[in-house]
Amino acid sequence: MAKTEILLTKQDIPRQWYNIQADLRSPLALPLHPVTNQPAALSDLEAIFPVNIIEQEVSQERWIGIPDSVLDVLAMWRPTPLVRARRLEEALGTPAQIWYKYEGGSPSGSHKNNTAVAQAYFNKIAGTKRLVTETGAGQWGTALSFACYQFGIECQVYMVRVSYDQKPYRRTMMRIWNAEVSPSPSNQTNTGRAMLQKAPDCPGSLGLAISEAIEDTVTHANTKYSLGSVLNHVLLHQTVIGLEAKEQFNRAGIKPDILIGCAGGGSNFAGFVFPFCAGKISGESDCRIVAVEPTACPSLTRGDYRYDFGDTGGMTPLMKMYTLGHDFIPAGIHAGGLRYHGMAPLVSALMNEKVIEARAVNQIPIFEAAVMFARTEGLVAAPETAHAIRVAIDEALEARKDGQPRVIAFIFSGHGLLDLSAYEAYLSGQLQDYEYTPQGGCVKS
Ligand SMILES: *Cc1c(COP(=O)(O)O)cnc(C)c1O
Repeated sequence: MAKTEILLTKQDIPRQWYNIQADLRSPLALPLHPVTNQPAALSDLEAIFPVNIIEQEVSQERWIGIPDSVLDVLAMWRPTPLVRARRLEEALGTPAQIWYKYEGGSPSGSHKNNTAVAQAYFNKIAGTKRLVTETGAGQWGTALSFACYQFGIECQVYMVRVSYDQKPYRRTMMRIWNAEVSPSPSNQTNTGRAMLQKAPDCPGSLGLAISEAIEDTVTHANTKYSLGSVLNHVLLHQTVIGLEAKEQFNRAGIKPDILIGCAGGGSNFAGFVFPFCAGKISGESDCRIVAVEPTACPSLTRGDYRYDFGDTGGMTPLMKMYTLGHDFIPAGIHAGGLRYHGMAPLVSALMNEKVIEARAVNQIPIFEAAVMFARTEGLVAAPETAHAIRVAIDEALEARKDGQPRVIAFIFSGHGLLDLSAYEAYLSGQLQDYEYTPQGGCVKS
């Protein structure tokens, strides 16, 4: 049977990003200043972001144009295919269709390049010479390194320690694109040094690495900070994914019944589902939209919806979001990109309004699903992506039970070819499941 794949041409790459802020039932809660707890002034953000990015962060315009220089780079791997996983369907004996939007073909192998390119470009035209960031599994650092190289900007990356040790090849990729990479907690910042003193074996977390990156940014000239998830402008840049997918489904005359994405900070999930959410908000569509998170770091399913810091050190503005607490350090699961204590405010708002739902899954079952996907479909998924695959398979098994055909679509956020040590641990029975413990993984009791 031929592979069923809906391809678009270069002419079909979206020319505008979709800004869901224009379609929310009520406006987002304003971010608060970390010290005064009053609504943050836009000028507070100028220490770390260029003005053109801040404008996108707060824009209420539904459509925002994508500059030609950004499109030129995106066209290196976009548009991406929408593929039907027929062999997986057969192996599961399900009456459901399973489709995936494949973001693993970008330079760094994930969706993260979509925003990295936009952010490097807007920083370049704003005069930034050096960008600083954090990275969990190394995907974001790799994507930003690539993007900075395209636009001639220096790049400094704080990489969460557990990933720095588990994923040395991501470090190498960042260095190919000329980035400086430091393990976090590091000795380069006050925040890092304080944590090392308290817990020398700390595996690190995204929240902690963000604190280090921000401290570095505000203490260096011509330097700005860049975040790979969570913020409104990041989610905005990712909407090329869902806009393409929507067009692909339209061309095939298919309406998805369930959309699924893994969620760490929420950007690949948002990029895929936001263009489908407008219909759900207005009541035209009854499609289910499911975010999948790890049981070890379940912000949407176990967190509170309240104001919290985006980082561990309490330097970022307070954002209203689902959070496990900014000092929560999750266990060192292999899906490093999902080890974040909070969730994007936009995704959180949709969760609170029940436009989307969430599910938490454990580490061993996600690798089981990813191995089944690799055996049937031939693609090795990132451990983060494996969370979406798990729930897509569970939904297809539900369909087998109740005999109801349905269309399941998930976002394949990235490949796992640099995550093979995690697969090795799974295959040799060395992986461990983790339940949520509020005190987190850095504190030993
Ligand atoms: C970073 C990453 C994620 C998680 O980040 P989001 O902002 O939630 O998308 C998921 N999948 C892959 C492959 C990643 O690299």
